Amino acid sequence: PNQPVHPSEASVNHHAPERPADLVARLRATFATGRTKPVEWRTGQLRRLRAMLTERGADLATALRADLGKSSTEAYRTEIDFTVREIDHTLDHLAQWLRPEPAPVPAHLGADARAWTQYDPLGVVLVIAPWNYPAQLLLAPMVGALASGNAVVAKPSELAPATSAALAELIPAYLDTDAVAVVEGGVPETTALLAERFDHIFYTGNGTVGRVVMRAAAEHLTPVTLELGGKSPVFVDRDTDLDVVADRLARGKFLNAGQTCVAPDYVLADPETAAALERALVRAVEALFGTDPQASPEYGRIVNERHFDRLSGLLDSGRVAVGGASDRTAKYIAPTVLADVDPKSPVMQEEIFGPILPLVTVSGLDEAIAFINDRDKPLALYVFSESEETRARIAAETSSGGLGHGLPLAHLTVSDLPFGGVGESGTGSYHGRYSIETFSHRKAVLEKPLG
Ligand code: NAD
Repeated sequence: PNQPVHPSEASVNHHAPERPADLVARLRATFATGRTKPVEWRTGQLRRLRAMLTERGADLATALRADLGKSSTEAYRTEIDFTVREIDHTLDHLAQWLRPEPAPVPAHLGADARAWTQYDPLGVVLVIAPWNYPAQLLLAPMVGALASGNAVVAKPSELAPATSAALAELIPAYLDTDAVAVVEGGVPETTALLAERFDHIFYTGNGTVGRVVMRAAAEHLTPVTLELGGKSPVFVDRDTDLDVVADRLARGKFLNAGQTCVAPDYVLADPETAAALERALVRAVEALFGTDPQASPEYGRIVNERHFDRLSGLLDSGRVAVGGASDRTAKYIAPTVLADVDPKSPVMQEEIFGPILPLVTVSGLDEAIAFINDRDKPLALYVFSESEETRARIAAETSSGGLGHGLPLAHLTVSDLPFGGVGESGTGSYHGRYSIETFSHRKAVLEKPLG
């Protein structure tokens, strides 16, 4: 890691930040040489990234603890090992994914004509990451971008400063610095980058900035992937094992102190189910984090004071069933379940993105479906039901980025499923071969012999 990966690294001045125009021109020049195209370069970069994660994972875990109070177990599970698995899956399948795919040729072109599609790298891509999984959400898109043969500019989130600094140090030490660069910074630096022409922009974060990114991209006709958020609902059917439901909900909701894009945002259930679920959630929270979650080493912290204040303002949106405590100096908000929540209350107006779980009562499945369809299309929707008919109805009658039956969050760990939103929760997707789709152009080729 301390050796320059390529001799040309020595020529890069690490002290004066490169102007965005110069940086993009430099990476574009590398791309133009064809260096990033061979599958050997791609797999080589993925192996270097893997080495970075295995050799320096502890540095990243330390940074993640500093930024978000993540336990080492959680840092490995949700960021470091997660990305290693994505790399391994890609290394296992890349050659197969990149194989040209034949297409049937219509008769009027003659029996000797052949047609196929093949993937071309796009060029120089920009990856902009948020602060909540600041390593995973920068590196997992990079896996796809590199596997597709692109040069990459990676912009970590300034709101996770320790992780940003660690990535800015490690990535150039492991990857090809002629083709991969990290730019740290916040709004001014990102705005300056967005003025440049990229061949794809992959943005993860909120919809307001998503619009800024899409507008900037439109200037250059640059395609975008927008991985956004929103309120991901949960429907809990009657006659389900509520202890199992509560345990899985609490694990999914309170991971990373609720700061997960696909976290269950709120629960819909009929009044009787909601009352029983409330009691089960109280037991589940205590079983997971004890009676004083602030003392639990497994429980994370809110990223900053601004989000702490925003979340504190949501704590009185309903009756506190469990939790409700907070400590501003420690940026701690207890895992909180709110019962009897009015759909018009503040906690139901925006994505919560914190450890507060409102229970909202509906009369049953029909009203739950109508409730979901009245709102923005969510990034994820979770259903706990023993009824095949209920599960099928929700699948058919609602639209969401992903749909999880019986287990929140886990669909995004299935590398062969596309991960992304729809409508307000985003556009485009990635993971596994869907990352190749995203970061490549699928070129149509027809070949007709001259003879
Ligand atoms: P954030 O504040 O870290 O912003 C994300 C990125 O946008 C950062 O790199 C930041 O520097 C940049 N940025 C901020 N303002 C900008 C501007 N005006 N112009 C250009 N760039 C700008 O993170 P956030 O947006 O608070 O992230 C939380 C949101 O992200 C939530 O809505 C969450 O649901 C969503 N999210 C989605 C996914 C997903 O995969 N779909 C994953 C995580 C988070």
